[in-house]
Amino acid sequence: MHRIRVYQELCKGVELCGICMALCPVDVFEPSETLTPRGARPPVPRWIERCTGCENCMLYCPDQAIVVIREKSEQQQALEVDQP
Ligand code: SF4
Ligand code: SF4
Repeated sequence: MHRIRVYQELCKGVELCGICMALCPVDVFEPSETLTPRGARPPVPRWIERCTGCENCMLYCPDQAIVVIREKSEQQQALEVDQP
């Protein structure tokens, strides 16, 4: 499964921005129930099992507040193991 890291201190909040939620093709995110110290409501990857690893959220976040850690496929892992 892919993983999503949201750097809450960088996010300006889904009410002001919300680009990640709008561009996620499989609706992984929902707004956090709590606010950050500066009053922003960051996205939470509530349905991470849906994530395709497309990286839209990371690429289009204007504040670099999201990192997508893509799970390696079995084929990729096998290639790495096979290399000298
Ligand atoms: S990587 Fe793609 S599918 Fe996964 S949460 Fe981001 S936008 Fe959605
Ligand atoms: S796109 Fe970035 S700044 Fe905008 S709501 Fe999502 S995480 Fe926050």
